[in-house]
Formats: sequence, C-alpha cells, structure tokens
Amino acid sequence: MTLTARPVFPFSAIVAQEEMKLAMIAAAVDPAIGGVLVFGDRGTGKSTAVRALAALLPPMNAVTGCRYSCDPEVSDALCEDCRTRAKTETLKHKLVPVPVVDMPLGVTEDRVVGALDLERALSQGVKAFEPGLLARANRGFLYIDEVNLLEDHLVDLLIDVAASGENVVEREGLSVRHPARFVLVGSGNPEEGELRPQLLDRFGLSVEVKTPTELTERIEVIKRRDEFERDKAAFVLKWKKSEDALRRKIVAARKRLAVIELPDAVLESATKLCMHLGTDGLRAELTLIRAARFAFFKSWISSARSSIE
Ligand SMILES: [Zn+2]
Repeated sequence: MTLTARPVFPFSAIVAQEEMKLAMIAAAVDPAIGGVLVFGDRGTGKSTAVRALAALLPPMNAVTGCRYSCDPEVSDALCEDCRTRAKTETLKHKLVPVPVVDMPLGVTEDRVVGALDLERALSQGVKAFEPGLLARANRGFLYIDEVNLLEDHLVDLLIDVAASGENVVEREGLSVRHPARFVLVGSGNPEEGELRPQLLDRFGLSVEVKTPTELTERIEVIKRRDEFERDKAAFVLKWKKSEDALRRKIVAARKRLAVIELPDAVLESATKLCMHLGTDGLRAELTLIRAARFAFFKSWISSARSSIE
C-alpha cells in the first residue's frame, strides 16, 4: 500500500548493494542506530534506495492539521499543540506517506530548524514559529546528498536532533520544541574528496557502494531500470508481492526490537573492541549493540530477501 502519487522504484528490485540496503533497513527498524552514511560512486542508487525504502514502509497515522505529523497513539511524543488539543478533544488523524526530506546544500540554519518570529512575539505577544525541514522529516527520512559539502555545525546539529528525537529552537529567551524523530541518511561521492573523519565518527553506520563490475549484475540493473522507466505502474505491480513481504518483516522487527535481549558476551565484545580502539565516550558501544540487536534479525531478513529474488 502506498499513498505516494508518483510510482517509486521498488526497494526489493534494487540489484545487489546488499550492505547499503541492510544498513538502511537496520536504521528504519531502529532509528536510534544514528543514521547511515553511504559513500560511493554517482549513479549507484543511493537516493533511489532512500526513497524506495520510505515508500515501502506502511503509511503513518498522523494527527490531522499537525505541522509535525504527530502520531496520535504515542502520547509522550506529541507536540505542544497536539498535547493541548488532546486534553479537550479526540485528535482526528489520517494516513500519510512516510516523508523523505532532501537537505539542500547551502541551506540556512533557520530553514533547517525552523524560524521564530521575534518581532511578532514582542509586538503581539504570540509565539510565531515557522517549522523547518526537521519538522517535515519527523517520523521519516532526512537525506543529505554530498554530506561532505555540508557545514560541520549543521551536520552536528542534525545528528544531535536525530539522536534526541526533539528539535529545540531558542532565540532571545523564547523557545519552541517539537518532535523530530527521523532516520538520517548522508551520501558522499569519492569525486568530492575523502570523507572527513568527523563525519565518519558521527554517523551510526557507514557503508561503501560501488558501481557493479560484474557483467550479469550490471545487465540486471539496466534491465530493471529500463523496465521501470517504460511502464512504472506495471513494474511496481510486478514487485508488489516482494515489497509486501519485506514490509511485513520490517514491521515485525520493529515490534520485536523491544524484547530482544543481548547476551552479556556481545556487550563485552563491543566494549572490548571500543576500548581497544580508544573511542571517545560510549556512543560507539551503544551503536554497536543496537546494530547487533538488529543483526539478530539479519538471517531472518535475508530469508525474506531470498524469497523475493
Ligand atoms: Zn502535533
């Protein structure tokens, strides 16, 4: 089921690039993993994969009229408006597609976090807030192409918000906060130079993608792309069963995540590895164990994939 008007290339029809697909699925199952950095040649389907994954996920139930698409069923993640309204009325809601928001290069911080209208606040005493890209990305994906070229302070800001799930805007003693839970996906091209170490350090997972060098794989990529371009609706229909199967797996994985207990031995290995590498803080361990928790599903997801192929 998809509510997007334009047919999107099906996620399960993406040939090979297993690591990239797995990392993106892992982050979609557990956004706390802290984003995915995809480094590789142009035309390897990085942006296609993000859009495809978002379109594959079940539509979200969102409060009608809410600027942050709050989930009516999660009361502790409601924005201020929804919380206030919920006290006196039953919140109306509707199904909306999982958003994918592109982060344009050269974007201003106000456009990202949202802008507080100080003048209106002072003259009319109202808190006027114009939501930014983080508001639109809530519960979806935030995609940064050529993340290498984005200013450091913006990357830091995005990663911090993605980790906390909340965007806080403070100006001159005024403050606004709203839910901003999203999966951050950054991509980089080798032509733009090496990835800066700070970037590698801040994303939860990092994967490399390459243009396929094997003949049959390359032919398959071209064949599917061409088939899709010629008749998008028919191609989407052809892959519907595979997409439905993968969607069910992701939804089930999300539910089971809360009850998966990691053995102490896994924790110990993660900690030993980080101590050995001398990583700062404990973020690396946390990411490792989150990814390890997901890895418990890996064989299970792979079995879903082989049934697709
Ligand atoms: Zn809301």
